[in-house]
Amino acid sequence: MFAPSKITAERRSICDKCKYFKKKSKTCGTPIVGNKVTYRKKEYKLCGCFMDIKARLLYSRCPLGKWQDEYKISEVEYKELKELLSNAVNEVSREENTKLHYLHNKYLKSGVQGSRCIPCVLQIINDLHKVVEQYEQE
Ligand code: SF4
Repeated sequence: MFAPSKITAERRSICDKCKYFKKKSKTCGTPIVGNKVTYRKKEYKLCGCFMDIKARLLYSRCPLGKWQDEYKISEVEYKELKELLSNAVNEVSREENTKLHYLHNKYLKSGVQGSRCIPCVLQIINDLHKVVEQYEQE
């Protein structure tokens, strides 16, 4: 899933000013393999990704957390979202659908409008499952 063009442009602008951005290869640190850096007194591994591609992918993250569009959910939000998704399996009520759209906008800055179209709602549910998975991996 691609990020809205406004978000991609914001990310690229942040990378362009980042001292770890390799202008020649257009990568985050050493191309492909990445490299370790110390940032704000902590050690991180840069991803080595090609930023022309990575910045366009909605779920990608800056390894140093510099992209402003990143939204990390809290434990309370995680539990709320997980419960909402576990209820939205066979049927989604109007109330649940409104909530799903609201959270999709909040976490993914998607700008999606409320819709009852089944493929649209399924896409939103899938996207929100990825938000949950991301929280569980961290
Ligand atoms: S992804 Fe983050 S660390 Fe990498 S170049 Fe962009 S701003 Fe810098």
